[in-house]
Amino acid sequence: MARGRILRCPSCRTYTLRDICPRCGEKTATPHPPPISPESPYTRLLLKVRRLKKG
Ligand SMILES: [Zn+2]
Repeated sequence: MARGRILRCPSCRTYTLRDICPRCGEKTATPHPPPISPESPYTRLLLKVRRLKKG
């Protein structure tokens, strides 16, 4: 993605571009880590691509 990285404060849930929350000073983190679940079609696709690359 070409967008700037958006971070979220886990403490007050404020979205920011800073490493430190401007509201409470808490260290921010990436809001949505990629979900890895066997049921997810995205995961299945990812595994398929990985297998193709290996072989
Ligand atoms: Zn905060």
